Amino acid sequence: MLGRGKRLWSRSKRLKSSYDAVIIGGGLHGLATAYFLATRHGMNHVAVVEKRYIGFGGAGRNTAIVRANQRTQENLPLYKEALELWPVLTQELDFNLMFYNCGNLNLAHSEAALKAMRLQVASAQFHGIDSRLIDPKECKELVPALDVSDRLRYPIYGGMYHPPGGIVRHDAVVWGLASGASQKGVDIIQGVAVTGIGVQGGRITSVETDHGTITTPRVLNAAGAYAAAISCEMLGMRLPISVLTIQAMVTQPLKPILHHVISSGTYHCYANQTLKGEVATGAHMDPWPNYTTQCTAHYIKHQAEALTQLLPCLKGVKFMRAWAGLADMTPDMAPIIDGNDPVRGYYLDCGWGYFGFKSCVVTGKYLADFMASGVCPQILRPFTGRRFEQHRLMGETPALVHYSPDN
Ligand SMILES: Cc1cc2nc3c(=O)[nH]c(=O)nc-3n(C[C@H](O)[C@H](O)[C@H](O)COP(=O)(O)OP(=O)(O)OC[C@H]3O[C@@H](n4cnc5c(N)ncnc54)[C@H](O)[C@@H]3O)c2cc1C
Repeated sequence: MLGRGKRLWSRSKRLKSSYDAVIIGGGLHGLATAYFLATRHGMNHVAVVEKRYIGFGGAGRNTAIVRANQRTQENLPLYKEALELWPVLTQELDFNLMFYNCGNLNLAHSEAALKAMRLQVASAQFHGIDSRLIDPKECKELVPALDVSDRLRYPIYGGMYHPPGGIVRHDAVVWGLASGASQKGVDIIQGVAVTGIGVQGGRITSVETDHGTITTPRVLNAAGAYAAAISCEMLGMRLPISVLTIQAMVTQPLKPILHHVISSGTYHCYANQTLKGEVATGAHMDPWPNYTTQCTAHYIKHQAEALTQLLPCLKGVKFMRAWAGLADMTPDMAPIIDGNDPVRGYYLDCGWGYFGFKSCVVTGKYLADFMASGVCPQILRPFTGRRFEQHRLMGETPALVHYSPDN
């Protein structure tokens, strides 16, 4: 009967007074970790506490691009496994995550960009990831609608093609993980905000919420753009994270013209065509930290100009919807994944910037190992927050970035 469908996850009647672990944030990383705690470690006395509704944050706003061709030795193995996990998880959850491995084409618009790509391709290939450099003619063969002439403001010099990447339906990931975790007994509590974290003798003891206190020995801060504020305000731990807005939009539905994800750092534009025919496109971040999720005319104009330069056949096509979300940026564009330091039982998974969708499942899997055993898995160790004070920053971005109004 219409409107009486079976709920995907159970509505918990009330918040219990104690849990083995409390996860702050019903986003991608919080739900994935809860799912793996329950399925791999039998830890189902776990609550995911979400102040709005699951998927409210970046989880429900991202452009759903997944790929493994990152830049650095520390990041590549994580993202490689992440990409391999989508079909596995689809089977395991028995839930169609709509993984479409259509391939990613990242365009270069100068000799310098091609050189940087050559290094990135070599690093990816070293880790067994399919990534290659192609020339403008091959770019055109892959994406016939692409303008590879020298009429462009920034002509195309070549591209980095990564066949196994693509897109996954982001809402399906949220719903599938929530459903899987809930079936294993995890409580998914929506509309409840975490307002404080209790610590005694250097250990986590409780979590305060606007619906009461929960006693627990473990807390995971997976609050996305709000993770740094939570750490600072509730525990006095300052994290080097700036919060910036990313805007995105979709065009009206079109017949199929774009069969790959394309992106261009120079034009600050990435795009793919959804199964519904809309061209979904994301822009660069707003240039200074803020917490707004408002769209601006500037980016709508910018995207229209960039898209119609690269794909002239889109001239005259209308944008149908625009939206914005928040990105938690670290100076080296790599996340902070940490635990038990300096507070025993306090775990962090944040600073994902615009990479937090593609990485959520693999991170949840290893973070669950970490939280269940107390021992950080090897693959997560490079992401400790201590790297910033030890001057061991990663090179996921060509230059370290301090996001400020002066950018
Ligand atoms: C426009 C846009 C495009 C993007 N495109 C991509 C992409 O193509 N590929 C990619 O890999 N990544 C992309 N990202 C980034 C990705 O969406 C994020 O990195 C990812 O969502 C981070 O996941 P998370 O679980 O850490 O946080 P979120 O998904 O943001 O979840 C955090 C949750 O915590 C909740 N919360 C906050 N404070 C509290 C509190 N006090 N108590 C309880 N709950 C709280 C929030 O309501 C939220 O639901 C994009 C982001 C944006 C905005």
